[in-house]
Amino acid sequence: MSFSSLGLSAPLLKAIQDQGYTQPTPIQKQSIPVILSGKDVLAGAQTGTGKTAGFTLPLLQMLGEEKKSGHYIRALILTPTRELAAQVGDSVATYGKYLPFRSSVIFGGVSINPQIKQLQAGLDIVIATPGRLLDHVSQKTIDLSKVEFLILDEADRMLDMGFINDIKKVLAILPKKRQNLLFSATFSDEIKRLADSLLNSPALIEVAKRNATSGNIKQTIHPVDRDRKKELLTHLIKEGDWKQVLVFTRTKHGANKLMAQLEKDGITAAAIHGNKSQNARTKALADFKNGEVRVLVATDIAARGIDIDQLPHVVNFELPNIAEDYVHRIGRTGRAGNGGEAISLVCVDEHEYLKGIEKLIKQEIPKHTIKEFTPDPFIKAEPIQQRSNQRNNHARPKTAAQRPSNQRRGR
Ligand code: AMP
Repeated sequence: MSFSSLGLSAPLLKAIQDQGYTQPTPIQKQSIPVILSGKDVLAGAQTGTGKTAGFTLPLLQMLGEEKKSGHYIRALILTPTRELAAQVGDSVATYGKYLPFRSSVIFGGVSINPQIKQLQAGLDIVIATPGRLLDHVSQKTIDLSKVEFLILDEADRMLDMGFINDIKKVLAILPKKRQNLLFSATFSDEIKRLADSLLNSPALIEVAKRNATSGNIKQTIHPVDRDRKKELLTHLIKEGDWKQVLVFTRTKHGANKLMAQLEKDGITAAAIHGNKSQNARTKALADFKNGEVRVLVATDIAARGIDIDQLPHVVNFELPNIAEDYVHRIGRTGRAGNGGEAISLVCVDEHEYLKGIEKLIKQEIPKHTIKEFTPDPFIKAEPIQQRSNQRNNHARPKTAAQRPSNQRRGR
């Protein structure tokens, strides 16, 4: 099936061709015609499935079908994190490059004034994180009264991060008549409730089964002692001559320490996490993408939605304490038809986490002990929380109410 048979217009087909895409992905095949028919959509799709083009292409087409004079916000895309907002913004610009629409990204952590100027100049499409969007609403620097399309991207993450009330506030000021699209990787009861209140007889689209890991990712566990993980990571990077690897740590402190050690070992590295300024995060990501740094060390929240084409290696330096995060992490590799490798360095402390992950993904992950790093059988498991105050204090609380307000993101 080709993109043209999905009913997309010439300017979009040309932009798609420029990207080198030859075929729509499964989510695109399903979502594009349904969205073009004007229906609300509830879509289950993870990052890496091509979901962004799946909603951006039909959105741009529909905006183009009904030309309006002047620029006012007709489409609002909400995302949980700044990184995802920036990436969706890039996609809108990429796919819309032969169309006359103006779009911009609105998120916190950067000065509000340039955003106000852009809003004043007129925009057709706004991609925003909820917190900063509401700042603009309260300052009356944004007019959402003419929104025709609302898209919630990674809605499950938005709820996880405590944005439900912000979302409700935004919904309350949007025009009642509009097309709504909700994308989520998972379907908790909370998501179903949100979908019920937001969507009008939605078409249901699901491409990747909940919590299933994609088949083209080779997963491996390297058992190792906790104090030798850094050494093993350096060994793997050097032996494999890895040029681009995303490494996950559980904590911000751990990310910084690991970055410093890699640099000491002569491996260029950068870290991204919530304590870094937006500019520092953007720079780290850019350096990683253009090959200036080989290793990007990230925490789960900071890494959400990072989109890097054909990322060949993802390493779990530490297993996540929330099993679903494992699926999200390794979803950064093996994307859109490219193979990828997800490696986890697992020490004796983490066996319970591993059990939880294997139960969730319903498969046993192959283990491969590297001879020089064979774990010492006499080392006893230690509870992860007690090793240091820094450990685990960034674990995502189960409910938003448990989370201190300064951990709220998107402002
Ligand atoms: P997403 O799931 O939206 O984050 O997209 C994942 C990656 O797939 C992005 O890097 C896109 O550029 C890429 N992509 C999207 N659609 C296609 C397609 N039809 N063919 C090949 N790559 C695609």
